[in-house]
Amino acid sequence: MQNYPIWYYYRLLVGSIIVLSVVGALLGHVWLVLSLGLALFVAWSIRQQHALLMWLRNPTGTPPNAQGLWGQLFDELYNRQRAHSAEIFRLRALLQRVRASAEAIPDGVIMVQNDGSIEWWNASAEKMLGLKPDDRGSSLTNLIRDPKFVRYFNRGGGDSIKLSAPGKEHVRLQMTLVTYNQTERLLMVRDITRLLQLEQMRQDFVANASHELRTPLTVLRGYLETILDQEERLPKFLHRPLQQMFGQSKRMGNLVEDLLLLTRLDADEANGKASEVFIDNLMEQLISDSEALSGDKAHKINFHNDAKVNLLGNPNELRSAFSNLVFNAVHYTPENGEISIRWYQEGGRLVFAVTDNGIGIDPAHIPRLTERFYRVDISRSSATGGTGLGLAIVKHVLQHHDGHLDVTSKLGKGSTFSCIFPLTRAAKPMN
Ligand code: ADP
Repeated sequence: MQNYPIWYYYRLLVGSIIVLSVVGALLGHVWLVLSLGLALFVAWSIRQQHALLMWLRNPTGTPPNAQGLWGQLFDELYNRQRAHSAEIFRLRALLQRVRASAEAIPDGVIMVQNDGSIEWWNASAEKMLGLKPDDRGSSLTNLIRDPKFVRYFNRGGGDSIKLSAPGKEHVRLQMTLVTYNQTERLLMVRDITRLLQLEQMRQDFVANASHELRTPLTVLRGYLETILDQEERLPKFLHRPLQQMFGQSKRMGNLVEDLLLLTRLDADEANGKASEVFIDNLMEQLISDSEALSGDKAHKINFHNDAKVNLLGNPNELRSAFSNLVFNAVHYTPENGEISIRWYQEGGRLVFAVTDNGIGIDPAHIPRLTERFYRVDISRSSATGGTGLGLAIVKHVLQHHDGHLDVTSKLGKGSTFSCIFPLTRAAKPMN
């Protein structure tokens, strides 16, 4: 069908009126002929509209043939309808591909509405959570009833959580809830049973090896101590080797104790026995221990309690974390240096900060300090008797107490290690 510009149709209209008027004038009935022409045009238009309506009701084939502007209108509609069908076809194919790829993902994927009703899931989710076709539309928190999951879902997700699969205690799942638009969320489920088994094997191995090493080391250290008590009766050439052996056996003992503590921290996911940790009492003891450790180095160690509130947590774990920070400050601060310890509240958090004016740390090392056995300067760290596990222990303990470690340091000037806790860890309600 040829496309004519609009003026062509106006010209046709004017031409038709002129022709009809001339014919009407010749017949002596201008108005009658013009009215007849108009009636014919209206009848033709009604036919075209009817044909269009019939085709729109069932637009399977090509549109009916029509002349003039009607023909162009039909063609235009036909082209749009074809483009629309092609787009639908393309989107359908895309949707199918997306679904097929989601089905192929080994992790479970579940699409849920904000109110928790399940919309769609893939084959892996079906296998891991035992979903059935009629679960569509039912509530996800009815399917996974674990209170930990319900709390996680209600707070809108966050860091992944680990749970047992519904009805299968031995299958451990890692779940991550992602909000991807205003009305829907995506729950990603991963089977981590094997991973946890391997992790458990690793932990058991370290725990067993450390435990087995403990007794022989205690015996060695005990004998060396007894022998060194009689140092003056020993030949002179044995003094130094024996002292070194004693020093190294002490270091190995510390290493074994730190490894055992880390395995214990790894094993307890959350700390069940939270009680009030009396900061003043804890610090009194810690300061006397660190002054003893400082010895001839004569550090000035001071403590300020500005929070006037105690901490809720595991006293042994927290003592271990805080002492690691204070003892590190003693180890890495030259003699007569100053170490300030402060317990304070700032905004919505409680902070235990240890500041020293010691050797400091190059900023490049800071992100890696809490890795196990990471040392900035191996020779210096060994000289202090450090195990390289101290800050890893601190990090773990803080994780158990919903807190984190913040480190600021300037090489040659000193460092501040801050343990930051949320106010929910305050042992008394805050004013
Ligand atoms: P280590 O047993 O070697 O002290 P840590 O895990 O306690 O192990 O500390 C890791 C490293 O961080 C240390 O080797 C040391 O280089 C550095 N470090 C820790 N505390 C301080 C500090 N107060 N000042 C300077 N460096 C520090």
